[in-house]
Amino acid sequence: MITPSQMKRGSRGTTGPSSLPRSTDGRTTRGLGGRTTGVVPQTPRWRTRAKKKMPKKSRATGARRVSRCRVCGSKDLTLFLDLGETPLANSFLTNPDEREEWFPLQLFFCNRCALVQLSRVVDPDTLFRNYAYRSSSSGTVVAHLLELARFVHANLLGSSKDLVVEIGSNDGTFLKALKEMGVKILGVEPARNMAHIANAQGVETLPTFFGSKEAQRIRDLRGGVKVMVANNVFAHVDDLHDFMRGVVTLLDDGGVLSVEVPYLGDLNQNVEYDTVYHEHLSYFTVHPIVKLFDEFGMKLLKVVKLELHGGSIRLLAEKTTKQRPRPSFLTFEEKCGLTKLRTYESLAERVEYQKESLRRILEDARSGGEKIVGYGAPAKGNTLLNFCGIGTETLAYLIDTTPEKIGRFTPGTHIPVVETERFRKEQPPFALMLAWNYEKEIVMKEREYTGQFIVPIPSPRVLPKNA
Ligand SMILES: [Zn+2]
Repeated sequence: MITPSQMKRGSRGTTGPSSLPRSTDGRTTRGLGGRTTGVVPQTPRWRTRAKKKMPKKSRATGARRVSRCRVCGSKDLTLFLDLGETPLANSFLTNPDEREEWFPLQLFFCNRCALVQLSRVVDPDTLFRNYAYRSSSSGTVVAHLLELARFVHANLLGSSKDLVVEIGSNDGTFLKALKEMGVKILGVEPARNMAHIANAQGVETLPTFFGSKEAQRIRDLRGGVKVMVANNVFAHVDDLHDFMRGVVTLLDDGGVLSVEVPYLGDLNQNVEYDTVYHEHLSYFTVHPIVKLFDEFGMKLLKVVKLELHGGSIRLLAEKTTKQRPRPSFLTFEEKCGLTKLRTYESLAERVEYQKESLRRILEDARSGGEKIVGYGAPAKGNTLLNFCGIGTETLAYLIDTTPEKIGRFTPGTHIPVVETERFRKEQPPFALMLAWNYEKEIVMKEREYTGQFIVPIPSPRVLPKNA
C-alpha cells in the first residue's frame, strides 16, 4: 500500500470507528479523504494514482506487526483508531525532496488487560539511537525533574551510599540535580547523543538500552540499587517483561521503582490523539501496569496525577513480598470506563470531530489572507499535521528552539523549521500552538506577541490577543 496524499485528507466525509472490524493484523486502511475503509480492498482505486503522485514515499518494511498484547499476551486486540500512515515523528528532513518511509499509525485495545498499543513496532535503533528530544529544553520539564529529585532525596533514600539508577536518563537533567545533593547516581540512555551530553556534564551514563542483561551487568559492577527511575520510557519499551526482569534484578529488597507515563485517561478526556506516534508503543492506564508489576513482585505504593505532557501519572512501586491493599485508582478507572472498548471507540469519533473543527478555524484564518505559522515543532505536532492534512499551503513555517530541528523540514508535510527570532520579528497574525502542552509557559514567554495563538487541543480555539 502506498500512502495517499496526506494533504487531501480530511476534505471528504468520515465514518465513525464503530464500523472498524476486529483485526489484529493491521489490514485496515484509509481512503483519500481520511475515511476508514475497513479491510484493504483487492485493488484500491487510489493505488496507481498515489504511486505516480508520491514517488518520494516508500512504504516501510522494517516495522513488526503486533499480534499479541505486550502486557498479558492476549490475541484479543481490537483496532479502534486509525490515524493513517505517517513518517517517524522525529525524522526531520535536511532536504524536502528526501525519500521518506511511512508507517501505519493505528491503536489496538486489549480486551483482556485494557492496554492500548500501536499496531506496529518500528526498530528501536531507528527511533532512539539518535534522539531529538532534550529534557533541558523546557523550563517546565526542568522544574518538574528538580521537584522529583528533591522528593527522591527526601523520601526514598536511606543513606548516602544508596545508588539511584535512571533508565532513559536523556541529557542527565534529573540525575545531575541528585548528584548535586550528594547522591550516588548512574544513567542508562540508548540515545548516544544524549548519553554523550550527560557524560560531558559529569553524569555517568551508559549508552545502552535497558533489559535483564544490562541490569545484571550493572549489579555486578555497582551492586544493588535503592531507587530506580523511569520517566517517559515505559511507553517506548517493546519487551516490558524483560524490562521488569531487569528492574527486579537490579533493585534491592525494599527498593522503589518510580515510573512516569503519559496518562491514557487524559489522552481520552482531552482527545490528545497527537501524542500517538511511533515512539509511543503503549498508552497506559494504571490497570495494565499493576498487572505487570504483580507478575514481578512489585507492589504499587502510590499513584500521583501530574500535569506534565498533557497529563501524566507517577507510579511508585516497592520490591516486596508484603501484601498491599488494592489501589483505589483502579476503581476510579473502572468508573471512568477506561477498561472498556466503547470508551475508546467514542474517542475515535471525537478525534475526527476535533480534526474538522481545527481545519475550519485554519481555513477561516487563511481565507482572510492572514499568515499562519506554527509555534513549536514537537514530535506530536507531526502526527497532528499529517493526520489533519496541514502543510505549507497553511503554515509558512514552524519555530522551535531545538538546534537539531532548526533549518530542517517537518516529516511528511515538509514545513521549514526556523528560529524563534523570525516569529518575533514578523509577528504573524496567527500561530498554531503545536506545543500546546506548554500553553501557559508559551503565552507568558511571548507576552509581546501581537497576533493570536490557535490552540488545537483539547478543543481547537483561538486565544484572545494580548492586552
Ligand atoms: Zn493485554
